Amino acid sequence: MGLEQGWKLDSSYSLLPEVFFAEAIPEKAVSPEVVLLNKGLAESLGLQVEELNPETLSGNEIPDGAVPIAQAYGGHQFGNFTMLGDGRAILLGEQLTPSGERIDIGLKGSGPTAFSRGGDGLAALGPMLREYIISEAMHALGIPTSRSLSVTLTGNDVLREDVLPGAVLVRTSSSYLRVGTFQYAAARQVTEDLKTLADYAIERHYPDVATEDNRYELLLESVIERQAALIAKWQLVGFIHGVMNTDNMTISGETIDYGPCAFMDVYDPATVFSSIDVNGRYKYGNQPGIASWNLARFAETLLPLLDENQDAAIIIAERQLKRFGEVFEREWLKGMRAKLGLLDEQPEDDTLSKELLLIMKDAQADFTNTFRALTDESAEQPNWFSEDAFCEWKNKWETRRKQQVATIEESYDVMRFSNPSVIPRNHRVEEAIKAAGNGDFSMLHKLNHVLSSPYSYSEQQVDYTTPSDSSAPFRTYCGT
Ligand code: AMP
Ligand code: MG
Repeated sequence: MGLEQGWKLDSSYSLLPEVFFAEAIPEKAVSPEVVLLNKGLAESLGLQVEELNPETLSGNEIPDGAVPIAQAYGGHQFGNFTMLGDGRAILLGEQLTPSGERIDIGLKGSGPTAFSRGGDGLAALGPMLREYIISEAMHALGIPTSRSLSVTLTGNDVLREDVLPGAVLVRTSSSYLRVGTFQYAAARQVTEDLKTLADYAIERHYPDVATEDNRYELLLESVIERQAALIAKWQLVGFIHGVMNTDNMTISGETIDYGPCAFMDVYDPATVFSSIDVNGRYKYGNQPGIASWNLARFAETLLPLLDENQDAAIIIAERQLKRFGEVFEREWLKGMRAKLGLLDEQPEDDTLSKELLLIMKDAQADFTNTFRALTDESAEQPNWFSEDAFCEWKNKWETRRKQQVATIEESYDVMRFSNPSVIPRNHRVEEAIKAAGNGDFSMLHKLNHVLSSPYSYSEQQVDYTTPSDSSAPFRTYCGT
């Protein structure tokens, strides 16, 4: 079934030892109706857009080749270790795409699994639309991420504070292997299973190191590099993940688990959106430090594979963990240079970048619009651009820019490709979801369209550049 839809599913994950998953059957959707379908993504997966139907996208029908399972994993949630697993997600399998990729296809909100721990395994329409909008916006921004193929109303009710319409999101990722998957394996203390998992992760994401004697160290190094580069990208667009638990951190280096995430308006490293993050553990300014902490947990799981001698293994792990800061700084500075239109490297660039951020913080500047205004002088210029501190900085920046070989046009070109003119502004996302909840998807389609080309600086984007109202701070909620 489903072959006419273009499904070409394999299920290599289900060949891992049984402890890594539990079979799962999606809950029946009583009257499935597809409300969002990502045609571009469907095509790139080799799917036939016209043939895709609500029965498959809701999980009512399982395509041939799929082996529906819930993945087992553990994780540090706000610093505390727990055994978890997919409580409201089901992995159907891996789509083998026309371009030769292997992409995990998962349902989210498709009912309880062996890991639901008393939860209902369901999802309401609003949060699934939100994940669709933000994950696709991240993709358009050029940030590695899981993606969203469809949102389908199930026709079933979901009981939260109110009774809400249930929905299933079909999401894709280059895999859902997480730091938490390794923590789960390590906690069970069966080194053979851990090794099988590590070899599997290497084969899927870092095949170049598969035959190296020190491949587990190289796995650690590769994950550290990908994650450091990823977090730098988040910082450079003001993305706040909101729940950087180790179970939400991938081995592939993609962003996953769009729950309480949001984009920062006013630049402030202390920005937090999630209502449950009361101590600000996952605030914007903490993201690199938390990623580094999470990677230390990953390194710990690998110790038995790094060296038979534990002391030697710890030395290897520490050597690699030190790299996180270096790679993050390098990638962040590379990104800041691009945001400032600097095509070559000068020692003062780090200071120049950080000075601007300090001025922005004092001015309570909108993060995105500051760089937008620097990139496009015809765009609205913030009032604080007339203040002395900024004018002094601007002089330094202009001098620095003129010293490079690149022309000013080249410099602006790089800026345009590095500074999004639109991001998913919280009030825009909320209004679109609200209208969709009332059956009007036009706002949501328009929003998705605008967010699909964040570097185009088009006229129609101007309406979407207004920051959210800072007098009514935005809150995101877990348990969605
Ligand atoms: P998250 O914060 O989305 O990463 O979720 C943390 C854990 O809670 C994961 O193991 C989820 O599968 C599980 N979970 C979240 N929501 C539900 C739900 N409605 N029913 C069952 N499990 C859930
Ligand atoms: Mg999660």
